[in-house]
Amino acid sequence: MSAQRIYLSTTIPYVNAKAHVGHALELVQADVLARHHRRIGDEVRLQSGTDDNSLKNVLAADAEGISTRELVNRNASAFAGLREHLSLSFDDFIRTSSDPRHRPGVERLWQACQASGDLYRRTYEGLYCVGCEQFYPQDELADGKCPDHGTPVQRVAEENWFFRLSRYAGQLHDLISSGQLRIEPASRRNEVLAFIAGGLEDFSASRSVARARGWGIKVPGDPSQVIYVWWDALGNYVTALNFGAGDDRASSTGYERWWAGADRRVHVVGKGVLRFHAVYWPAILLSAGQPLPTEIFVHDYLTVDGRKISKSAAGPGSDSTALDSTAQGSTDPVALAATYGTDALRWWLLRDVPRVGDADFTIDKLIGRANGDLANGLGNLISRVVSLAHSYRNGVVKPCSRPLGTSRWLAAAADGRPATAPSDDWPADAIELRATLECTPASVKAALARFDFRAGASAVWEIVEQANRYVEATEPWHLARAERAGDVAAGQRLDQVLGALVAACQVLAAEIWPFLPDLAARVAVACNDLGGGLPKPQPVFPRIEVSQVA
Ligand SMILES: [Zn+2]
Repeated sequence: MSAQRIYLSTTIPYVNAKAHVGHALELVQADVLARHHRRIGDEVRLQSGTDDNSLKNVLAADAEGISTRELVNRNASAFAGLREHLSLSFDDFIRTSSDPRHRPGVERLWQACQASGDLYRRTYEGLYCVGCEQFYPQDELADGKCPDHGTPVQRVAEENWFFRLSRYAGQLHDLISSGQLRIEPASRRNEVLAFIAGGLEDFSASRSVARARGWGIKVPGDPSQVIYVWWDALGNYVTALNFGAGDDRASSTGYERWWAGADRRVHVVGKGVLRFHAVYWPAILLSAGQPLPTEIFVHDYLTVDGRKISKSAAGPGSDSTALDSTAQGSTDPVALAATYGTDALRWWLLRDVPRVGDADFTIDKLIGRANGDLANGLGNLISRVVSLAHSYRNGVVKPCSRPLGTSRWLAAAADGRPATAPSDDWPADAIELRATLECTPASVKAALARFDFRAGASAVWEIVEQANRYVEATEPWHLARAERAGDVAAGQRLDQVLGALVAACQVLAAEIWPFLPDLAARVAVACNDLGGGLPKPQPVFPRIEVSQVA
């Protein structure tokens, strides 16, 4: 299949508090998709950012006794800094309160919906949760409180602008049930379809300036109102592409290229913000006459030591962590990456979190995975192979030719084309190892096409297991002993075995790169002869000693 143009986004978290490990999950998932597609030659743009224009940011700033601007700037910077701590590769990061591209884009969306006759003024009275930034009908409350936050809701009565969501129920149903707007997993698609079938009510799309405390984007032509923070936040997916610049100035690198002109427009979101992304946002786009997202992948949440982190783990709608201070340390992705390493954190998130269902995060599980897989499994493989190469061949080994369909570092990042060299220099007993290498790219691609990160990580893992098995089966140290005793055939066979193992490690580096870019780079350096043989053996992933971090 020819290369595609793919626009990928994470949701944008509220910045009323610091990031937690649930945010890391979504960011890492989106990053894997972006790296994978770049590697296979697709054109990719990965977008992230922060949702600054929420009333809860105003309240959080009040509580700290600082200005809203100060709080938002500080916390938004911390979220942007996750790029480095988690080795993310987003191409753009929008802060909705300060990015000059955002307000004009939100205004343009508003005006387009107004031109369609979908915005009207109406007096409204309802029960509002500031934590969720949404109204709740009485029957969705739990003992009169927000079902997600367990906090009292406020009775709010005011005249607002309303969006005619009801008008789009039929179209949304058709688009989602036909798969034109694909929602994964299917259980989430069914949830959305049931919600639509229950009837869509128009929603309040603005707030009084007074209730918003003046924070946010004013409704065009009505300075008494600010635009509902969810409308504002959802707009980020196109405002960051300079949608607000209009038809004339939208450059080829902006909206026309990456939204209207993309083959796939993919949102990665948490389950708590599903309605906003699968109902409100597509309806706004339909009203504005713009293309819809093509896919929405909905991840579940993490618990930490068996407890909920918060009402929602990611995206607009995410809250401060609700854990006590002792557990807090174990949810901060920056602290986790600093203590255990970015590779260990990413690997747990990718290898242990299922596609469907919540997963429980604990430090023990993180360490167990890191030591079991990365230190013992992968680290041990690389160190054995490189040590064998040095013990018996002074580090100079001719790798077997690259199996079909695989990439080899360093070409990996730039060259996703299949190998063209014939793969007939592989030893006959390495057929399984070679077959695993040849299957891996397709297995990873298929897994990631259904947003199954765990299956993708497991597919790559097969290489480690097969290669370790091959070392055990061939016992290169015996071949070396026989060679020293004058067995020429044993020496030739040792060359082949080492060639197969070095080739496998090189492919491993390339295939694991979307998942663990840092470790992949170390593996690539360890297993590539960049002149004068392989580098001296060095551990690519030292064991995490519990005493060292206690
Ligand atoms: Zn709430």
